[in-house]
Amino acid sequence: MDVLADDDVERALVVVAHPDDADFWAGGTVACWSATGIVVTYLVLTDGDAGGFDAAVPRADIPRIRRCDQQAAARILGVHDVRFLGLAEGTIVQGVELRREIVRVIRQVRPRRLLTWSPEWNWSRFRTSCHIDHRATGEVALTAAYPDAGNAFAHRTLLDHEALEPWTVEEIWLLNGTAPNHFVDITDTFDQKIAALRAHRSQTGHRDRLATEMRERIEPNTAAAALPTGRLAEAFHVVRNT
Ligand SMILES: [Zn+2]
Repeated sequence: MDVLADDDVERALVVVAHPDDADFWAGGTVACWSATGIVVTYLVLTDGDAGGFDAAVPRADIPRIRRCDQQAAARILGVHDVRFLGLAEGTIVQGVELRREIVRVIRQVRPRRLLTWSPEWNWSRFRTSCHIDHRATGEVALTAAYPDAGNAFAHRTLLDHEALEPWTVEEIWLLNGTAPNHFVDITDTFDQKIAALRAHRSQTGHRDRLATEMRERIEPNTAAAALPTGRLAEAFHVVRNT
């Protein structure tokens, strides 16, 4: 799959369901992008309020904790613009209002590249990846990218009242697609990714084998990417929107 050269991408937008999604699934890639000079924005739809592992932490504190964790993790990957919509976990549904929120951010950020969840069921990774919020995020973000964001007559208030001109994202990178067609060698940013995952203390504080688990999870990508043994890669299904 031919993708845009990173040098030609000034801005990228990452739309995910929960704090930690982007870092778990694409942290090494995001670190590469930042290092190349791409300005990356995260848009996190929920506060992941059903997350955490420690029953001693008051549940009311979880959204604030998870936002802080996400901001710290993003900084480690060179991402300084992190936005939250504050939806409740498990409630993301395709709808015109949420689509408008995402179109607004697409038109504000004006990215050539969008990274989001695939809306597909992936039966080979059912438990770890097919959260209802992930699939719904993919559905709504893709619909926001096409046809809404590039159509001046869609969500007319954005143009009329906020002067947000139409914008067409050229390239969409999907997480957890069933047929990945692009791989990024993250061997050199793997440690940075693990550091970012460690910053999600409310999620990973108890996972002593985190680096090993992550290495094992992405190991099959090495052969799929035709990389030499020992290299590490993250996998994407890249779709053109031009
Ligand atoms: Zn998630």
